[in-house]
Amino acid sequence: MTLALHNTLTRRLEPFQPLAPPRVTLYTCGPTVWNYAHIGNFRTFLFEDLLRRYLEFSGYDVFHIMNLTDVDDRTIKAAAAAGKRLEEHTAPFVEAFFADCDYLRIRKAHVYPRATQSVPAMVRLVQRLLDAGVAYRGEDGSVYFAIAKFPSYGRLSQLDRREIKIGARVASDEYAKDDPRDFALWKRADPIDERVGAAWDAPFGRGRPGWHLECSAMSLDQIGKCCRVETLDIHAGGVDLIFPHHEDEIAQSEAATGQPFARYWLHGEFLKVGGTKMSKRFGNFLTARDLREQSVDAAAVRLLFSQTHYRRALDFSDEALAAAGQGVKRLGEFRDRLVRAGGPATPDGRLAALAARFESDFRAALDDDLNAPRACAALFELVHDGNGALDAGAAGGAVARDALDRAMAVLDVLPTPRAVEPGFAGWVDERIAARDKARGAKDFREADRIRAELKAKGVEIEDTPSGTKWRMV
Ligand SMILES: [Zn+2]
Repeated sequence: MTLALHNTLTRRLEPFQPLAPPRVTLYTCGPTVWNYAHIGNFRTFLFEDLLRRYLEFSGYDVFHIMNLTDVDDRTIKAAAAAGKRLEEHTAPFVEAFFADCDYLRIRKAHVYPRATQSVPAMVRLVQRLLDAGVAYRGEDGSVYFAIAKFPSYGRLSQLDRREIKIGARVASDEYAKDDPRDFALWKRADPIDERVGAAWDAPFGRGRPGWHLECSAMSLDQIGKCCRVETLDIHAGGVDLIFPHHEDEIAQSEAATGQPFARYWLHGEFLKVGGTKMSKRFGNFLTARDLREQSVDAAAVRLLFSQTHYRRALDFSDEALAAAGQGVKRLGEFRDRLVRAGGPATPDGRLAALAARFESDFRAALDDDLNAPRACAALFELVHDGNGALDAGAAGGAVARDALDRAMAVLDVLPTPRAVEPGFAGWVDERIAARDKARGAKDFREADRIRAELKAKGVEIEDTPSGTKWRMV
């Protein structure tokens, strides 16, 4: 079996073949840092995390780029409303985004280009499009992309021309454009842009980049620097970005380079609450920090999201989250049992067979367009059957534990270890020393009492030739 992915370009499952294996270039549209990202946004980022982790698990060498949109209509409006400069307004949201990613155990991208720091690449791309004759300066001083000069426009979203026209936003710049469908590559600077510091000089006039342009310029710039190519292996994002954002990214990039922009387009579905898309507009949003403040284990969020396929809408509820929390707990307990069931020396046939079956089911599921719900089902089958084998006295848990840990490199849904308070480790060491003293004096009742005292605090101890070891369970 090899990895097959659903490509939005063809609406089909296709065997995954990167341009120059084992390297995979992956671009994911990052957050717009005008506010906190909500967990609907994080559903997309977690789907991309699954993709990234599974590619790495499968032996690919992934170069992952995620941009930060720190200049666009929304960030400018929000900064102006707060009476701040752009960077002053966005800085805390950038910081919060990274903290939320850490909380949710999202693997870090290799680069996070910021729009405001990538303006030279954007200016170059606009100039390239002007030189190629597919862009023009409108009467209002902004630069537009001429859709009529790019015949394959609409291929990704599969909208016909009429629909695109209806879908296009009717704006005040309507009369400055040759064709109402044309979109802005570079917007002439307004007084509000100047006020918040969102204006740059360019040969075609002082202004600021359009949002779509930012992603094309940053992705091409990064893969050009790292790999000297102009085609991404994978471009991913939420389904709401297919049109117009990704459609426009394709138009700008391909019209400039003459190369396919991305070989595979992957799109994650929405997160819903009570059947409605979660969004700031509907006021039904929850942020990652809300969950963290409610002491929700990130593993439960990860498991909940993994249990629905990325191309299906997920309805978020407290009940579903609580059920995922229970699943995480069961998984942690099972792993602890495997650890206690002995080392690798005498692998029990039963547990080894269960582990082998699990690993093959797990790979088959994820090879099938990242079918994480099926991978999770295989995982809980291992927990169920493995517990049964342990109940029946099976030993040699190491082989099953290793299989479980390898799968966790992809799913990462083991419970978060409880934070150890300052001073706690010192207390544990003192108790262990007291127990050693009691054992030395052959006061085994006292030694057992101390062991129970530690256990009540969640500390498990193990006597080894090199002394007593402890860990939190
Ligand atoms: Zn983008």
